[in-house]
Amino acid sequence: MKILVTGGAGFLGSHLCDRLLEQDHEVICLDNFFTGSKRNVQHLLPHPGFELIRHDVTEPILLEVDRIYNLACPASPVHYQYNAVKTLKTSVMGMINMLGLAKRVKARILQASTSEVYGDPEVHPQREDYWGHVNPIGIRSCYDEGKRVAETLCFDYHRQNKVDIRVMRIFNTYGPRMHPEDGRVVSNFVVQALRGEDITLYGDGSQTRSFCYVSDLLDGMMRLMEHPSATGPINIGNPGEFTIRQLAEEIVSMTGSQSKIVHRPLPSDDPQQRKPDITLAKSELGWEPKIALREGLTHTIAYFDELLKA
Ligand code: NAD
Ligand code: UDP
Repeated sequence: MKILVTGGAGFLGSHLCDRLLEQDHEVICLDNFFTGSKRNVQHLLPHPGFELIRHDVTEPILLEVDRIYNLACPASPVHYQYNAVKTLKTSVMGMINMLGLAKRVKARILQASTSEVYGDPEVHPQREDYWGHVNPIGIRSCYDEGKRVAETLCFDYHRQNKVDIRVMRIFNTYGPRMHPEDGRVVSNFVVQALRGEDITLYGDGSQTRSFCYVSDLLDGMMRLMEHPSATGPINIGNPGEFTIRQLAEEIVSMTGSQSKIVHRPLPSDDPQQRKPDITLAKSELGWEPKIALREGLTHTIAYFDELLKA
């Protein structure tokens, strides 16, 4: 098949391009390089099935493709808050452009949605039928509400225009090729520990997250895309739940670092708890994660260790 990956030069997108090329598909990687980089796909440039296009999804584009993975959007709070209006435009106008393309060329489209659609959840763990608890006017809203509108657009194009949609709610995912200055917690703590810098724990560290390793996440994503009928929304994440303090302590211990854990103010609207209910992913896709946090961190630490030495 001919497959478009928007945000293909980012962390998840570049791993997805690798996997699709391994399956002998033709891949068009589209990116504006806001948070992604050519380095992530450098090794794919000589591949005859690979094409890289610099383009912004807020502008329309016409391509002949069979599948669209719509991943274009900054995912780290630091980056999506840097230009909040642009983040909203990327989620909303980008989604409209990609759904319009899917409609015209009759492509199936998968939207990379997020656990952020649940906001600061009052239901735990989060199931797909929970509508969420989201602040519409806070500093995270450009991302959360943008992704919620994107889901709405998917379902309206599906009902109105019969577009073949797949909506995936991704929970915190980590691994090699995260940007070292990305600002998300796993890359921040690993880089700080390896450099011997202070580990910046926001708040008291009692907030929880559930961390999924990138290879598991991609298995779930590709299974959802190739499922004959499941539109989603469907949670893909690892239900292992950890406090952020536990994560900091684990990374310090695994790297053998001398770094000290220091406290920084908790950003506003930072969700207190998060853990996916993956019952639906298990029953509909036959998917569940295989990589435990410690194993995933071993690969991630090795990656950053190499990168920082280079
Ligand atoms: P990332 O920042 O590494 O990748 C995003 C990519 O999109 C980058 O390459 C960036 O340059 C590109 N991009 C941003 N705005 C664009 C635009 N207007 N036009 C074209 N390209 C644009 O982040 P990631 O972790 O790889 O996330 C990929 C997708 O998955 C995002 O949509 C994100 O919201 C979603 N997601 C990720 C996680 C996670 O934990 N990694 C969790 C939930 C959802
Ligand atoms: N966090 C932290 N120190 C950091 C970066 C993040 O304590 O250097 C915390 C952050 O406050 C949040 C959690 O780690 O509670 C996850 O943050 P991240 O930005 O990775 O993702 P999200 O909040 O979107 O889940």
